[in-house]
Amino acid sequence: PSRSEITYFGAGPALLPTDVLEQAAEALLDYQSTGLGIAEHSHRSELATNIINEAKADLATYLDIPEDYEVLFMQGGGSGEFAATVYNFVGAWVTRKRRALSSKKTDEEFLNEPALMQELRNAVGSELKIDYLITGGWSQKAAAEAQRLLGPEHVNIAADARQSNNAKFGTIPDESTWKLSKDAAMVYYCDNETVDGVEFPGFPKCLEPGPDGTGPIVVADMSSNILSRRIPVRNFSAIFFGAQKNLGSTGVTVVVIKKDLLPPKTPQPSAALLRKLSLPVPPIILEYGTIAKNNSLYNTLSIFDVYIAGQVLKKLLRSYPNKVEGQEAVSEKKTQLLYGALEAHPDVYKVVPDKSVRSRMNICFRVTKGGDVDAAEKAFLKEATAQGLTGLKGHRSVGGIRASNYNSITPEGAEKLAKFIDAFAKS
Ligand code: PLP
Repeated sequence: PSRSEITYFGAGPALLPTDVLEQAAEALLDYQSTGLGIAEHSHRSELATNIINEAKADLATYLDIPEDYEVLFMQGGGSGEFAATVYNFVGAWVTRKRRALSSKKTDEEFLNEPALMQELRNAVGSELKIDYLITGGWSQKAAAEAQRLLGPEHVNIAADARQSNNAKFGTIPDESTWKLSKDAAMVYYCDNETVDGVEFPGFPKCLEPGPDGTGPIVVADMSSNILSRRIPVRNFSAIFFGAQKNLGSTGVTVVVIKKDLLPPKTPQPSAALLRKLSLPVPPIILEYGTIAKNNSLYNTLSIFDVYIAGQVLKKLLRSYPNKVEGQEAVSEKKTQLLYGALEAHPDVYKVVPDKSVRSRMNICFRVTKGGDVDAAEKAFLKEATAQGLTGLKGHRSVGGIRASNYNSITPEGAEKLAKFIDAFAKS
């Protein structure tokens, strides 16, 4: 089939706007009449710096990111950030503890003070915790990575949705049951679980900052719902997301981080100090401070991917005068249309997650028509594909059907799927 004949509901990489790709195809051969393609220009050129700075500024405008937050373009994907968040926020925690024990002394001076070192070691041993809220496969993977890098004794599973739901994902445990640590290095959660179709309805109440603006260090993975709704950025210490769902092409990962948590305000501990504390030393390319200091150009960055992301942002800003809220309203409408179509046939479809937490971006359901789920889902996928509705197969770990309703799915595309859902049920 041709590109215009299909609506692709795959979970990622996702569809990119055709006009952005057409323009990018030209830019690949010759960028701005320079005779060189965009992927061939030096990442250190002025042209590359302009692409980075414009994409940063447009992202900040679209999402209302405050001035005291930095935007970083990183590599290594969401999975790389599972590790980067651990290293960087454990480092920030160690710096905080060191200063609490002796505010004036540097890392090096600390290393030469056995009594202070012992106190710091004791604090690491008894107090260092990262809290994870496990609500699906991706937060589960992030927590597993933390356990691997840091040791399970430093990882606190503050909540695990499977415990109260027959070992399955599909709910978010009530906040009153979360077992949060005192002064955690971070509280980590995944805002939208791509595999399980579970999305936080909003920012967790119990993690909100107090009236003085201080609160827990909250870090969220927004890989699969970024740019689709307003975010209370100030409530977060950091947010990260891979580009390949709502932002652009696979290859860059964005980190939005509070500048207070970067040097000079918060330097990372030296490798020597970390070693003495038996804590892992971060690879330099995962150090947020290093990336920030170099405006995301510590090493060779895929400027092509930043360019694509920048063009998608420009298109969003052109389409929605009220920025992300414009996209949010469209997402809401598409979501209601799709869940509405499924709910109209309770004897044929079963939405997997609980209604209170179901995702606007990844709509996960089973086809129970006739009792033979496997056969019914095969028939559903086959008929959908024949009508140009593709990419609907659920993640291999959970099966079922998943319709990824990212920004690139137009209202017409969502309507076409909703009509198919209805027609298949009646057939
Ligand atoms: N987090 C979420 C929510 C995801 O959906 C994904 C991938 O689909 C990842 C993390 C992992 O991202 P990557 O494949 O870029 O490492």
